[in-house]
Amino acid sequence: MLGLMQDHSLAVGSVLPFAERQFGHVEVVSGATRLTYGSLAGRVRRLAAGLVALGVRPGDMVTTLAWNTHRQLELFHATAALGAVLHTANPRLGPDQLAYTIGHAGSGLLFADLDGLALCEPIADRLTRIKGTVLLCDPAAMPAACRLPDPISYDALLEAADAPLPPPPDERAAAYLCYTSGTTGLPKGALYSHRACMLSSLSLMQPNGWNLGADDVVLAVPPLFHCVGWGVPFMAPMVGAKLVLPGRDLDPARLLDLIEGEGVTMSLGVPTIWQGLLDHLSARNHRLTGLKCLGMGGSAPPPALVDAYQKQHGVRVIPAWGMTETTIGCSLAVPLASDLPARARALMAGQGRPVFGAEFRSVDEAGRPVPPDGTSIGHIQVRGHWVAARYFRAGEPATDADGWLPTGDIGTLDGQGFMRITDRAKDAIKSGGEWISSIELENLAIAHPDVAEAGAVGMPHAKWGERPVMALVRCPGATLDGPAFLAWLAPQIPKWWLPESVLFVDSLPRTPTAKIRKAELRDRVRQLLKDAAPREPR
Ligand code: AMP
Repeated sequence: MLGLMQDHSLAVGSVLPFAERQFGHVEVVSGATRLTYGSLAGRVRRLAAGLVALGVRPGDMVTTLAWNTHRQLELFHATAALGAVLHTANPRLGPDQLAYTIGHAGSGLLFADLDGLALCEPIADRLTRIKGTVLLCDPAAMPAACRLPDPISYDALLEAADAPLPPPPDERAAAYLCYTSGTTGLPKGALYSHRACMLSSLSLMQPNGWNLGADDVVLAVPPLFHCVGWGVPFMAPMVGAKLVLPGRDLDPARLLDLIEGEGVTMSLGVPTIWQGLLDHLSARNHRLTGLKCLGMGGSAPPPALVDAYQKQHGVRVIPAWGMTETTIGCSLAVPLASDLPARARALMAGQGRPVFGAEFRSVDEAGRPVPPDGTSIGHIQVRGHWVAARYFRAGEPATDADGWLPTGDIGTLDGQGFMRITDRAKDAIKSGGEWISSIELENLAIAHPDVAEAGAVGMPHAKWGERPVMALVRCPGATLDGPAFLAWLAPQIPKWWLPESVLFVDSLPRTPTAKIRKAELRDRVRQLLKDAAPREPR
C-alpha cells in the first residue's frame, strides 16, 4: 500500500525559489557584486531562458570551468532547474587531464571565466565536442580574439526574458558531474543526482553537523567544482544564510578581509587553507571575533591546528570526511554532550561518525569484516543515499553486490561508527608487518613550531620491509635540523615509528585539492636519499 502524501521531486531547482520567497532580502556577495536571493533567483530564471535559447535541453551536459563567483552559482541553479547536467571542470588540473575530463563528459557547451579560457585555449584543438563558448564576464571584458568556438558573453545571455521554468526533473536524474583528481590512473566521473545533493545537504547541515541557520554568514571556500562546493550552494539558500563567494583569491589576507568585512560566521575548506589563515592571524596578532565555526575536510586537520582555532580564537572546528564519490561527505566529528572528555578529544583527531544516510564498515585484504573495536585496522568502505553506485560511462559497478564502495582509506571504526583514518591504502607505511600512520606522524610534526609542512612516506628497507622517512618544510627563518626534530618527536611516538631519515625540502608536491601527492613525494625522497651519503641500515 502506498502512502497518500504528495510526491514532489527532491530536485535542486526547488531550492532557490524557496530562498526567494522566504529569504529574498538576504545577501549573496561575490567580489564587488552584491545580490540577494531574490535578485539571484530572477537572474537564474533569465539564465535558464538564455540556456534554452542556446539549445540546452533536459539531460544535456554542459561544462563550466570557473572559480566561486555568482555566475558559477547561477549556473549551478539554472542547469539544475532545466534538468540539464553541469560538469564542473577543475581549473587546477593540467592540460591533459582537463582535455580528458571535458572530452569524457561530452559537453557541447563550455562556460569559462577568463582564467578558464586561458587554460582552454592551449588545448582548444582537443576540445572537439565543444560547439559553443560562454565567457563568464560582461561584454566589455570579452577578449578581442578567442580560440574556442562561437564565444559570447555570459551577461548577454541574461538579457533573455525571465521565462517560466519547466517541471522539475525526476529526483534520480543527474544534476552535476565531478571527476576524481586521478592521482593514479585516469580521472573517474561521479555523477550526482538531484536526490543525492538534496539529501546530503539536509543531513549534513543539521545541528550535530554544520549547524547552519538563517543567522549565519557562510564563506564558500570549497571550490564549487569539487564535490558541489561541499553543498554550500544548496545549504545556504535552504536555511537563508548570507552567502559570500570569494572568487579565485584565497590568500589569507583576503580571507581575513572577507571574514571581518562581511561578518562571516561559518566557513569550510581544506586544512591547508585554514593553516595559512592561522599563520597570518598569528603574524598580525589578530584575534577572530565573529567567526564561530570552521568545517575542515579533504585531509585530516592536524590537532595542533584544531586546538589553535578553538583555544586562541574561540572558533569551533568540525573535521569532516568525504570523497568525490560521496557527493558532499559522510561523516563529521562533533562531540556530543554524552561524550567523555577523552573520547571527545579522540573524536576530534579522527574523521567523526556517519551522519544519517551514510554507513561505514571495515574489511581485511580478503574482504572479511574487521571488528569495529577502535583498534583493528582495515580497509574502510562506505554506502548510503548519496554514495556513487557506478562511475560515469563505466561498465562495472563501483561497489560490491551489497552497495559497499571501497574508499581507498585504511583505518579503524568503533562500535558507534567513529572512524579514524590512518592512511590512504596506497600511502600506508608497513614496517615489520605493522602499520605506521603517516597522517599521525605528519600531524605531530606540524605541531613543531619550526615546521610549516610535513609529509611522511615509506621507503623500502631490507630488514623491516619499509621504514618511514619524513620530508619537512621549515617555517621562514627557522633553522631546525634532523637530529633536533627527531629528539623532539621521539617521546611522542612508539620507538619503531621514529622516521629513519628527515629531509628538508622547499615545498611538498600537492594535488589540485591541496592533498600531498604521496607518489611524487616518494620519488623525490628516494632521489634525495640516493643523492645523500649512504647510511648504514639499522
Ligand atoms: P577526493 O575524492 O579528492 O575528495 O579525496 C577523498 C579522500 O580525501 C578520502 O578518501 C580521504 O583519503 C581524504 N580525506 C577526505 N577527508 C578527510 C579527512 N577528514 N581526514 C583524512 N582524510 C580525508
